[in-house]
Amino acid sequence: MSTLEDWIKHGEELRRPLLVNEKLSESKTVVIVGGGLSGMCCAYRIASKRPDVKVILIEQSDRLGGVITTWQDGAWLCDLAVNATRPHPAFWRLVEDLNLASKFTPSRQEAKDRWILMSGKSHKLSWRTMFKIGPIKLLKSVRLARRGGASVAELIPNKLVADALCLGIVNDTANNVDADFLMPSLTKYGSNPPIKKSKLRKLIAKSYPIFSPRPGSIASLEGGMQCLTDTLSEHLSSLSNVDVQLNKSFKSPVSVAESHGVGLESVIWAAPGLHEDYAESQLSIFAVGYRNEQVSTVKVGYGTLIPDVNIPVSGILHESDLHNSNRCPDGHRLFRLMVPHNRWDGQDESILACAESLLAKQPELFAKIGERKIPKYPPGYMKMIAQMDYQCSYVGWSVSGVSITHVVDEAERIAELF
Ligand SMILES: Cc1cc2nc3c(=O)[nH]c(=O)nc-3n(C[C@H](O)[C@H](O)[C@H](O)COP(=O)(O)OP(=O)(O)OC[C@H]3O[C@@H](n4cnc5c(N)ncnc54)[C@H](O)[C@@H]3O)c2cc1C
Repeated sequence: MSTLEDWIKHGEELRRPLLVNEKLSESKTVVIVGGGLSGMCCAYRIASKRPDVKVILIEQSDRLGGVITTWQDGAWLCDLAVNATRPHPAFWRLVEDLNLASKFTPSRQEAKDRWILMSGKSHKLSWRTMFKIGPIKLLKSVRLARRGGASVAELIPNKLVADALCLGIVNDTANNVDADFLMPSLTKYGSNPPIKKSKLRKLIAKSYPIFSPRPGSIASLEGGMQCLTDTLSEHLSSLSNVDVQLNKSFKSPVSVAESHGVGLESVIWAAPGLHEDYAESQLSIFAVGYRNEQVSTVKVGYGTLIPDVNIPVSGILHESDLHNSNRCPDGHRLFRLMVPHNRWDGQDESILACAESLLAKQPELFAKIGERKIPKYPPGYMKMIAQMDYQCSYVGWSVSGVSITHVVDEAERIAELF
């Protein structure tokens, strides 16, 4: 049973299950497979709390950080994956513990607005969106979704709004996404807090160690999100009980346990592979930059979601509007385009033409900066993982939550068990 103190510390993350073997905390050696943010945070939190426990962190590539990378070309700077964090006390604690507080700033207030492009028109996301969906219809569908296992399309009975939200978070359309996974507080998945949501929110707001975020704001790091994983990596190297092993891959928890002479209960799997039906979608990421005067008619804001499958771009993020730290040369603006592969003909020219029609002609910068894969979370997913029998522990965004606040908080919750 979670206490009020637990809820203040972890907030709504407590709705998400920890897939942890109950004997993990008895281990003298913990082996973590996967050196993304999740594996790194688990290693950092466990090793810092228990200097007597040896922590081995195994990563298949030649660098730590996983999907998080920040691309740079001169003064242009753009994250490939996550670029900012929603307010969550666990993320604030991590930034403070890594001595990154001076580089951590709230997003710009004037860039709060988000839009959805619907039938060629821009709709601003706000309480009015409720009327687009239909409040009575929404109430009915929320009630039905609370039975569990519904899709986001069933939860939000407006296809364009539901698709836009899902595309913006998991690069998939709403009928393919589990509502309990994406919006557990709306479907009331898991346990409920012991006090009213509004009271809890106030108590959480008082607990932030660096600054109290304003409602609706997010926060980011100078130098992009890679600053976080690079700093974590430095901290891990300075801990004498941590052994980081790069360029090493293991097929399964059993193979890593056998090769390290530990029981399965001492393995934390922070890589894909929780279940047999695991699948991913793919997207490409483009950076597009303009001089201010070229894009003077583009409103300052967070960005636009585009559910229309006939347009190859599913989202435009206004990178330089959003962050307080620099993302482009003076007098310029930087936009990031998300391009799902199932909507794209693979030609860069198609994306350039799309950017020119949605933003402005002849960008000063147009570059494909990378590709990423995103796990799929089909309807019924949370029900399925809650019933699974697991012998090692599973963490990360391919398990019970997609956001960085989830993986950072999950690592704290696991370290608390030690
Ligand atoms: C385009 C994009 C945009 C995003 N935007 C946001 C956002 O706005 N807000 C937000 O909160 N989150 C966002 N995210 C999600 C966020 O980036 C993830 O939650 C987080 O980075 C996941 O970290 P992880 O360690 O769980 O996974 P990963 O980063 O995928 O790390 C897994 C690691 O395991 C390694 N590995 C895999 N298999 C093996 C093996 N067999 N042996 C050894 N190593 C292995 C991989 O090489 C990798 O390094 C976004 C992600 C993407 C891709």
